[in-house]
Parts: sequence; C-alpha cells; structure tokens
Amino acid sequence: MKWPHGKRLALCLSFDIDAETLWLTRNPVNVHHPVHLSRGRYSVKQGIPRILRLLESEGVKATFFTPAWTAEHHPDVIRTIAELGHEVSYHGYLHEVCDTYEKENALMEKAENILREITGRRPMGNRGPDGYVYDFHLQLWLDRGYIYSSNWRDNDGPFLHKLNGKTIPIVELPKDGIVDDTSYDMYTLQHPEHYFLRSGREMVGIWMDELDGLAEEGRMMNFVMHPQFIGHPQYVRALREFIRYAKDHGAWIATDEQVARYYLSQNGFPEYAKGESF
Ligand SMILES: [Zn+2]
Repeated sequence: MKWPHGKRLALCLSFDIDAETLWLTRNPVNVHHPVHLSRGRYSVKQGIPRILRLLESEGVKATFFTPAWTAEHHPDVIRTIAELGHEVSYHGYLHEVCDTYEKENALMEKAENILREITGRRPMGNRGPDGYVYDFHLQLWLDRGYIYSSNWRDNDGPFLHKLNGKTIPIVELPKDGIVDDTSYDMYTLQHPEHYFLRSGREMVGIWMDELDGLAEEGRMMNFVMHPQFIGHPQYVRALREFIRYAKDHGAWIATDEQVARYYLSQNGFPEYAKGESF
C-alpha cells in the first residue's frame, strides 16, 4: 500500500471513551457502585485532558469512539475534542449492540443525533462495542452512509468490504488486542476479573515492534485505547515516546476517517477524497 507523502504505514491513534458505560455493562451491580463508576469517570476528568494536551503538543489528530451516553453525560469534553479537530465516531449508545437490523437502526439514529447535536457532525465510522457485529451490519452501515468500520480481525488492513459479492465503499480499519491498552493496563478484582499489569514502557515496546513489522509491509495500525486506563500519567508519558518513535519511523498519523477517505480515493471511489488533501 502506498501512503501519502511517501509514508511507510498509516497510524490511527484511536480511543474508546467507554467511561462509566464500561462498568455499567460489565457487571449489573455497578449501577449502585459509585466507586467503580468513578473509575470510568477518570477518563473524562483526568485521562482525556492529559491525552488532549499530548496530542496538541505532538501536533497530531486522533479518533474518539464515543458511546452516545458518554456524550450526553459529559458534553463539554466531547465538544472540546471536536473543537480541537479530532474525530468523534460511533460506539453505541450505552456500549451495546442490538441483534436485529430494525433495533440497531433505531439505536444508531438516536446515538448519531446526540453526537451531531454536540459536535455539529455525524459520525462517519463505527466500532462495535465489545467487538459485536451481526450479519446485517454491513447493509445497515451502507444504508446509513458510513464509510469505515473498525471491527474485523482477519487481516492487517485496510481493505474494502464486499456485500453480496460486490465491493462497497466501506473500508475496514482493523483492530487487535495487541494494540488495545486494556491488554496491559486494565485491572479490576471485580467479576469478570482482569489484571495483567505491564508498565507503560513494556506496552509501547511491544507497539514499537509491531509498528516496525507493519511498516515493512506498508500496512496500518489502528489503536483501541481507553482513557480511563491509559490516561494515567506513566502511560501517557509512554504514549508520547511511542508517537515520537512512530514519527521517526515513517508513520502517517491520521484519523480513521482520513485513512478511510484516502483508501477509498485510491481504490475505485475517488469522490470520497472530498475535503481532504493527501
Ligand atoms: Zn468500548
């Protein structure tokens, strides 16, 4: 794959602002558990301001997959993200996925309206909460005008999806547990337990090796970072080192939407480059 400006790979610094929805959906007891909910709120109170300062000082733009519930409860944070030129993308209402076209269509309509109200723009891409995607989703996304998905895990990407044997203008920007910070920095003793702590330095060491491998093949990296965990100071410092390493090693750091538009424009859908200068 040829990337803009002779870059070696595309790099999307993507965040999932699950905030309280992560705790509300992983264990029903948490609706009455203010301390666990406060762990989710760490994202909007501490993590995101720290991350936005980092992105600003490094001069890069990122994508924030945002459950609309998060946007409803923390509108100022989401508005600030959009005003700074970052992308806000779809991630359910309460971090959920519906199992029929009709129910999911209604959920997307509701969530899109909330995000549009706050950011002034509709989301152009989506990431299924907890990785859930059903057979009907490609048709639904196409019908709703989405241009990318960040869900599939069978290919380092990017690639164009097919529906009924026909290529459609939806780009897959895959993700993986290797580039999900919760593989390294999420801990909870509450069921379902999760604790495999690694230092920020170890985490970004793995990411640097992964970047080198993907750059050799001209591929892409799309992150899944959760500000309530990676927003802690040592991880943000490590992320800064990673961003600098990525710049030095030929990464094109762009939002998911920019990468999707570029890929579409190079692969049979030139009209999707509109508004972008690659
Ligand atoms: Zn999520």
